[in-house]
Amino acid sequence: MSKRIAVVANASKESQEVLSNLTGLLRAAGFDLTQENPEIVVTVGGDGTLLRAMHDYEESLDKVRFVGVHTGHLGFYTDFLASDLTGLVAALQSENAQEAWHYPLLQVEVTCQNGSVTKHYALNESTIRRRAYTLVADVKISDLLFEKFRGDGLSVSTPTGSTAYNKSIGGAVMHPSVAAMQVAEIASLNNIVFRTLGASMIVSQKDRVVLCPEPADDYVLTIDQLEFNYSDISQISYRLDGATIAFANCGHTSFWERVRDSFIGDITD
Ligand code: NAD
Repeated sequence: MSKRIAVVANASKESQEVLSNLTGLLRAAGFDLTQENPEIVVTVGGDGTLLRAMHDYEESLDKVRFVGVHTGHLGFYTDFLASDLTGLVAALQSENAQEAWHYPLLQVEVTCQNGSVTKHYALNESTIRRRAYTLVADVKISDLLFEKFRGDGLSVSTPTGSTAYNKSIGGAVMHPSVAAMQVAEIASLNNIVFRTLGASMIVSQKDRVVLCPEPADDYVLTIDQLEFNYSDISQISYRLDGATIAFANCGHTSFWERVRDSFIGDITD
């Protein structure tokens, strides 16, 4: 039976052209093109396009493998060249589900004062802030009260998200095979009265990070590119619960090669 493939693209002229060429090639090669229940989702655009596709297919992540084609700069999740669509179609033909790469997702569970619980999954990171005021929150690592945070906010990222917003706020870059989450501060207040660690923390998969913010009605929680407004949060719990995103093994470039090519560029001896 032919593989079921969905192709999604951002609105740019280049991505739309690639979408049209790629769907033609995939049809000619006998793939079943469908948006419903695909086995493979090919995104055309940038990392943002892949993040959006991940959330669109969030309910079936255990059945879907992703492939990212980049039409702009090399992306972190999009390492296929739009100029090699024939190579991509050949790679999709020989691709084997058992060889997919699995990267951890971050589970974010928000409990409100009225007892309601909302669960989200982030591929890059989740941040929490207040609309205008300082975020004041107890930070717990599992049952240990670790610090009382004051500042703009906190970011909790996955290993693959470590190169995204986390890196911009001073967090470390982590290899995706390290099953851990990273907590990074966003402009913490540190003075004679208020004290935070002042460094990002890499927290093991065995632990959960729990934030208990002070009562307020203007919390802004982000999950990758998505934004949610919350009032009366009682706690936010972060953990790696084993959920993953799968990337089809179609000749993925190595993680450190992507880090070098994205952030360092050509190196001459
Ligand atoms: P977008 O698609 O414009 O992405 C913003 C930039 O982040 C792009 O250059 C993209 O290639 C890069 N990026 C995304 N994921 C990455 C990753 N895992 N590793 C390295 N670079 C990555 O914007 P969007 O659609 O709103 O995407 C949301 C993501 O953008 C967020 O998850 C966040 O990580 C990132 N972001 C970064 C900053 C910052 O660095 N100051 C600010 C806001 C959002």
